[in-house]
Order: sequence, then C-alpha cells, then structure tokens
Amino acid sequence: MRNLREEIRERIDLVELVSEYVRLERAGKNYKALCPFHTERTPSFHVSPALNRFHCFGCGASGDVFTFLMRIEGLSFQEALRRLADRAGIELRADLSTSEPSDALERLRKILYASNFFYRQCLQRTFHAQQYLQERGLTKETIERFELGYAPDGWDHLVRFLQRHGFALEEAQQAGLIEAGRNGYYDRFRNRIMFPIHDPSGRVIAFGGRILGEGEPKYLNSPETPLFEKRRVLYGWWQARSAILRERTALLVEGYLDLMMLHQYGLTHAVATLGTAFTEEHANRLRRLVERVYLLFDSDAAGVKASLSAGEILMRMGIPTFVVSLPEGDDPDSLLRREGASGLQPFLARATPFALFGLEQVIQRYLRSAGVNDPLDLDPFMRTELLKEALQWVVRLLNPLDQTACLQVLAPLSPAYLTSPQAGMESLQQELRRLQRRSAGQRRSSTPVSQQEPESPSANLPAVPKAVIEAEQALLRALLNPETAPLALEPIRRVVWSLPQHAQLAEWLMSLPHPPSERELTQLLNQLPDESLEPLLTQLLMNPLPPPNAHEIEEYVRYLQKRIKRQRRQQLAVQLRKAPADEKTLQEYWQLRVEHD
Ligand SMILES: [Zn+2]
Repeated sequence: MRNLREEIRERIDLVELVSEYVRLERAGKNYKALCPFHTERTPSFHVSPALNRFHCFGCGASGDVFTFLMRIEGLSFQEALRRLADRAGIELRADLSTSEPSDALERLRKILYASNFFYRQCLQRTFHAQQYLQERGLTKETIERFELGYAPDGWDHLVRFLQRHGFALEEAQQAGLIEAGRNGYYDRFRNRIMFPIHDPSGRVIAFGGRILGEGEPKYLNSPETPLFEKRRVLYGWWQARSAILRERTALLVEGYLDLMMLHQYGLTHAVATLGTAFTEEHANRLRRLVERVYLLFDSDAAGVKASLSAGEILMRMGIPTFVVSLPEGDDPDSLLRREGASGLQPFLARATPFALFGLEQVIQRYLRSAGVNDPLDLDPFMRTELLKEALQWVVRLLNPLDQTACLQVLAPLSPAYLTSPQAGMESLQQELRRLQRRSAGQRRSSTPVSQQEPESPSANLPAVPKAVIEAEQALLRALLNPETAPLALEPIRRVVWSLPQHAQLAEWLMSLPHPPSERELTQLLNQLPDESLEPLLTQLLMNPLPPPNAHEIEEYVRYLQKRIKRQRRQQLAVQLRKAPADEKTLQEYWQLRVEHD
C-alpha cells in the first residue's frame, strides 16, 4: 500500500491540487495561502513543491496529497486513493477496491449508477417527459449536464430492470430506489422526472423526483441511506464546485429547477439545499471555499424564513452573507426565463447584507401589524417595542460593522434622536452594550467548561515549555541543513530530548550514513522509519527560518542541558526529602548543585 501511495504522490502535483481549493501565493521556494482548515487572517498554510507536502504553522495541519484531499473533501482514505489514482492515471488493482470494508457501499453505488442509466434511457424514450422539460425551458445541454432522467409510470419497471441485470433487490431497497410491499418489491419513483444527486466525486448517491402532471408529493427524494445524508449534501455541488472556487462566491437556492436554470444562464456557482433546511454541515462545506454567499430563495414567507435560518448559520460561521430579494411572485427560474441573466444581475448587485435583512424583517412585522408604511408613524409604545426587539437582533450579530449599520437604521426611532441624531445613536449603543454584557454573562454560565476552548493542536503533547520545543526543533533544523549538519552532529549527542518524537527523529537523522544533501532532503520524507514523524519532518523542512549557526547550536544545547539538570535536581530534592538517601543519590545531587549555583 505504501508503494502505491508513493507512486501516486509522485505523479500528482500538490500545488496544483491545493490551488483548486485555495488561492496560493508564491513565497520563496514555497507557496502559501490562508489555511483552509482553520480561520486566520494572515497565511500560515505552506505548500512545498519540492517536498510535495503542505504544512500549516497555525493549526498544525500537515501532510501530502492524500491527507489534503481527505480533509478538504471529507473522504476516507480509500475514496481519496481512488480519486487520486484516477487523476494520476493509475489503475487500481481489482482486489484493492473489493477487499475494502466499504464493499457493501460500493454495491449500492453500482445499483444507483445502473438506475441512473435506466432513468436516462427512459427519458429518451418518453416524449411527454421530454416535452415537459422543454416547456420548463431546460436545454439539451442542461439536461445532459445534470443527467436528468424519467421514472416511468408503473409499479415495477425499475424492479424488473435491476432483476434482469442481476442486482440484489434487498440492496436496491437499501439504496432507496425500491420499496417492499405485500406483493413484493415496487418502484419508489413512478412517473417522475428524476434528478440524480451526486457526491463530491461525481458519483450518484440518491435521486430527487418531481411528479409529472398532478400528484402528491410534488417532489420526492431518496430516503436517507448509508450513502445519502441530507444534512451533508448540497445539490449541484459536483457541477458547481470549480466555479465556486473561481468566484469565491456561492449562490444558494432552494429547488432543483432554480439551480439548473441558474447554471443554464451561466451562473454556475449555484448550489441548492434539498428541500431540507440548510445545516451547519452545508455551511462547513462552503466555508472552506467561499468569501461570500448569496441567498436566492423565494420571495414568499417560507422563503424569508429559509433565508433567516440559513443566514444565521452562515453568520455564526463568519461567512459574509447577502440576501437577494426578487420581485414579489418571482423565483430565479421565472426571472431568468423572462429576462435572462441580465435580468437577475441588478438584484444580485442590490443584495442586502444579512444583518440588515434580519432587521428589515423585524421592522416589516411591526409595520404590517400597525398598518402603516413608515416606522416613524408607529405610536410611541409600538416604537419602543420595535426597538427592543430590533436590538435583540442586533446583539446576535457578531460583526461590529454590521451592528453599527443596524443601529444607524434604528437611530431615528430612539426618543433621544429628537435631541440630536448623535444622541439617538449613542443611546442605542449604550443599550446594545448593556444587552451584550447580559448575553455574555448568560453564555458564560451556560457553556460547559469543556466546550469553551477550541481544541488546540498541542493539546495532546506533554506540557513542555514552548522555548524548549523551539530549541529542540532549531537543533533538528540544523541537522537537516547540509551546511550546518556537520557542525551540529557532535553537540547534539549531548542533548536529552524532551519530546519523544524529537528524540526519534534526531536518532534517525544521526544514524544516516552522511548528512543529507539538498537534493536528498526531498526524499527523506519517503524514507522515514515511522510515518507518524511525517508532520514533524514536513514542518521542519518547510520552516522558513534559517538554521542556527555554530554558536547558536552550542547555546541551544547548553540551554537544554541546563534544563534537564535542573529537573533532575528538583527530582532528587523531592526524593531526598521523602526518604534517607543512599550515597550515590546524595553525590549526584551535590554534583548538580555545584554545577549550577
Ligand atoms: Zn491551519
């Protein structure tokens, strides 16, 4: 397995792979970027073309093409292997793909793939289904791109197709395609336009079906299956991902047809939720790739509600979010079909920042219930109530700029505004600070201790002071530099390492027949005796700091020795206090005291 991994690693350019996800900038021999795995303002995520490895000096994420793909796409090793092998043009041996534990999943995928083929064939044979899609304004290219199909009217068309091709019907049921009735299995999807749902690798994992003509439910999705978790899947992700990366922006819509229409009109960075609420998992998927999200939901009450709940999740994740309000009664589909992409552009340009959108909803509710058009026409009591509720909204916003923008909208409603606009603003700010203090107090008392601190990469290391870690790593870097390695070899033998990983790596480096030359450095990672040392070695090789010179090497060694002796002395002192000591211990203790006092 390790050989295959190395072969693939050699054939795939990590810089190229990573640049499909984040914007890389050249920095000396390496590239750097804002880390896709943690939130940061200055880039500490480095990619080395020479090593074909990445390392983040901020969160410690580290690895090769496999690690990167697994983490950014949430894939298993097997899945990443298959994707990368594909990309590298390497054929995987059959036993590699059948001996894995996800054998059963693989069989489900095959059934879904075959069913997709079946539905697409049926569409080609069914004139009225084609006609429906044409009436909806979908072009041949869009139908192809989204692999649309048709599930024929009847009870067992798919059942018989799958049977004929030797698929196990119990498994087809598990895949969510057929159901078990009193008289055997029957098709779940009947007389429906079929929308296959793909995973991030482009494999079909589920279907959505829209009834052709009248009937309930209008839309029917696959049930949750081992392959299909609704809360994780965004429809169109597979088709939209490269455009999302390019634009650093995603358009979020609700329905299949809205989504396909947007793609058809060139807005290929659109994805859709699948008739379920937008979840944190969805937001997480987007967070790594986008700088902003546009919500393009229906203009009706349900659409507003969906915008509010999706927006809140995106806001909590710190993703700038804008709400696109379409004219009453329009949805992206109807607008695009009537006016084309240029008809939608002005609405995108006028999109409301989510903070103001939420505020507007509170204000509108008061206006509606009072039957007036201007908040200044509300009676004083209603105005006070409105302010109270609006501030509750503002306090939930995390961005101070958003808060100020909202307060500016609200200021004219404050009684102090009559004195001066400035006074109106100040009184609201004061009220906001009071609410913030209160909600901070509530959060503190309700958050369990374990959840307060985010997990830090050093959480599982023994408590070794940072200075010691830095000194030890500086020495290791000296060993890794062809110029300083000869100077470091001798002094470093005197070091007692505080971190076992450092000791292990130093021991291995010193056991090499000769210090590695510049060219051999890139090979070191593949020769490591223990794979768990890879992140450490990657980080050392990619560290932009120069290696210590001869004098600094001596200093570091002396510093580490001193620390070890101090520790030993403390240990002995404790021991001596507890029990009468033997001659040897006493001698050692005094020796250490003499050396250091
Ligand atoms: Zn990071």
